[in-house]
Amino acid sequence: MKNVLTIAGSDSSGGAGIQADLKTFSAHGVFGMSVITAVTAQNTQGVFAVQDIDPDIIAKQIDAIFQDIEVDAVKVGMVSQIPTIKIIAEKLKTYAPNKVVVDPVMVSKSGFHLLNPDAEKTLMEELLPLATVVTPNIPEAEVMTKLSIHTIEEMKEAAKAIYQMGAKNVLIKGGHHLEKDSTDILYTGEKFIPFTSPRIETKNTHGTGCTLSSAIASNLGRGLNVEQAIGEAKKYITIAIEHSLAIGKGVGPTHHFY
Ligand code: PLP
Repeated sequence: MKNVLTIAGSDSSGGAGIQADLKTFSAHGVFGMSVITAVTAQNTQGVFAVQDIDPDIIAKQIDAIFQDIEVDAVKVGMVSQIPTIKIIAEKLKTYAPNKVVVDPVMVSKSGFHLLNPDAEKTLMEELLPLATVVTPNIPEAEVMTKLSIHTIEEMKEAAKAIYQMGAKNVLIKGGHHLEKDSTDILYTGEKFIPFTSPRIETKNTHGTGCTLSSAIASNLGRGLNVEQAIGEAKKYITIAIEHSLAIGKGVGPTHHFY
């Protein structure tokens, strides 16, 4: 059994965050563990409140896991505030896991700032150099690079710029493009690799980013290389969106298959 850890925020409605990550880990046959960075009160209609967890408790959760259990891969999601980012970066440097997927979560689909805008620079400086793969969507890549991204060529340019910030591999997710297909672009520092899937017509896409990044972490933990891990994760998220659930009054969650 491979062990995979998510360091992220809790979504009370179970569609995104820690809950999506753990469901994804189970579906991939890996053992899931979680360090909770923040508790959100949210549902399919929006995020209504956030309680950030004390950085000292975040540190103790990370210590408790790494001092006892072998960790095959880590996914980092919602990190809220500067002190949260700093303690996670410090601990990841100490324990140096081999595979780290950083999902630079900034704003929810409902428009709520899950990352304090003041902390964007710290996330880029402290977490990107520790990332085996970083997985920004187009709006996140625009914040990180200050570029305006409308085409595949511009996605490639942004991927190169984010690579310069220290991530070993950069996956820019094209789902926010209103094109017929959804194309993500991976930049490995040597080449660009596109991953394309048909666009699925549904409003129920809550938690897609969390699910994709934890599927990549699961696959890396299982020993796949970066290209294979992303290719398999893209297939997984496409099926999860195809079968997404019309739960609640708003944006329903993706479905996880076991
Ligand atoms: N809530 C938490 C805790 C998250 O980590 C995320 C995304 O990463 C979201 C909500 C946002 O989910 P979505 O934008 O898919 O609604």
